[in-house]
Amino acid sequence: MANVTEILNQARKEKRTVLTEIESKKVLRAVGITCTDTRLAPTRENAVALSSEIGYPVVLKISSKDITHKSDAGGVKVNLKDKADVERAYDEIMTSARKKFPNAVIEGVTVQSMAKPGIEVIMGIVKDPSFGPVIMFGLGGVFVELLKDVAFRIVPIEKSDAEDMINEIKGKKLLEGYRGQEPADVAYLQQMLLKLSDFVNATPEIEEIDMNPVFAYKDGAVVVDARIILPAA
Ligand code: ADP
Ligand code: MG
Repeated sequence: MANVTEILNQARKEKRTVLTEIESKKVLRAVGITCTDTRLAPTRENAVALSSEIGYPVVLKISSKDITHKSDAGGVKVNLKDKADVERAYDEIMTSARKKFPNAVIEGVTVQSMAKPGIEVIMGIVKDPSFGPVIMFGLGGVFVELLKDVAFRIVPIEKSDAEDMINEIKGKKLLEGYRGQEPADVAYLQQMLLKLSDFVNATPEIEEIDMNPVFAYKDGAVVVDARIILPAA
């Protein structure tokens, strides 16, 4: 995983603890976790060119090492269907981000493919002072924010742990195809948890991983937002 080492080293060299969305997704992809194709556009023209390369519809997000919660900055625009949409979204994102974070250094926007709707789940790693890395799984959106419906296990986990984690969340029925929605590919989600656990177990210098949200489908799943955090030196 030469790629992963390079990305971690680069961040450390710049004294950054938070990897960008693009860097985080590169790391996850190297581990075998599917993420939306995400690229950096430093200018409005670049954003338009990348959008037609990636293929509409696309999503634009603010790219700034000083802004971690992109929606809070008015920095996420989804389902952009053509050049005019992208140009407008670019301008709105820049105006809003500069207003809300006047001191932020802005690299531009990221352009990524718009993922088709799925069941939103979250996965991640947090570090516990006594137990070390802990892996978590939950349903996204209000389920995690309001209901704290999340399962935790100490890393490393085995297949049976991944199964148990998914089974023990209260909202599990949603994954089975609630009210005509397609079910989620639970076996695939288990594999993702195992890959995440193996990676962090082999890479102790990872402090935190936040995959929020992941869209789960009948076949497979895709990470649409990711953030990896390294320890403060
Ligand atoms: P934040 O930094 O605020 O967490 P996100 O990247 O998670 O920003 O984007 C906010 C929301 O926009 C997500 O929760 C998701 O619903 C939607 N979204 C983000 N990226 C995509 C994408 N590639 N395809 C479809 N929806 C997306
Ligand atoms: Mg997010």
